[in-house]
Amino acid sequence: MPRSLLLQQQSSVMGLPVHLQPNYIDWLLLQLQQQKGVHIVTLNAEMAMQAEQDEALATVIRKAELVIPDGAGVVFYLKLRGKAVQRCPGIELAEKLLMRSSELAPCPIFFYGGAPGVSEAAAIAWQKRAPGIAIAGTQNGYVTPADQPQLLQTLADLQPRIILVGLGVPRQEFWIAEHRHICPNAIWIGVGGSFDIWAGTKDRAPGWLRNNNLEWTYRLYQEPWRWRRMMALPQFAWRSLTYPH
Ligand code: UDP
Repeated sequence: MPRSLLLQQQSSVMGLPVHLQPNYIDWLLLQLQQQKGVHIVTLNAEMAMQAEQDEALATVIRKAELVIPDGAGVVFYLKLRGKAVQRCPGIELAEKLLMRSSELAPCPIFFYGGAPGVSEAAAIAWQKRAPGIAIAGTQNGYVTPADQPQLLQTLADLQPRIILVGLGVPRQEFWIAEHRHICPNAIWIGVGGSFDIWAGTKDRAPGWLRNNNLEWTYRLYQEPWRWRRMMALPQFAWRSLTYPH
């Protein structure tokens, strides 16, 4: 087995783990083959700041098998500590995982999250884009407490191998941690608003903004109500400078 598949170099961002791998996808496919369950957390500055205030969230992140450097802030934090790290946006990792999932047949996939109709539209878009992948089911993210048992039973029956959960941070991280035992061999990943993007109800920032660490400006332009949440970004920048090295 190539050494890179075994290597899981761990770094730390404000006391939270970040796993640094040259190739997350090969490692994830190996976990799928070996029937090992994985919770992937896509760490960004907002989430790190939330975890600083919320020990329960920090605990969930610490227990995840894979924490990837999703945001430019996390990359900046590690750079200040002498670690040159490539940013790995969660949506891109999820896309690569879906594209490669057909290598492992059968590999049923489940989409949970988004407004009614969104995860279905995302599934249809994916089936067009990659006809070889097997989306076994979808569920919108506004399930009432009374309907939760039905969703959990569906997951128990289907035993999807990849479960994408788009409920927003930190709801999706808590939900995965609470329910991952239902499908212990699956890869579970919190994907935020990715279903909206695949369904075409929202779009990602243009490449030139993403490449210049300015994706947040586009999100603010699309969803101005985010300004309060985004106050976490300058706070994170300050913590990057002051958190003990
Ligand atoms: N959402 C959901 N159920 C809820 C609250 C939110 O399914 O109870 C969905 C919402 O429709 C959106 C996603 O969660 O698709 C949150 O997207 P956002 O971009 O805000 O994610 P974050 O920035 O928190 O990662």
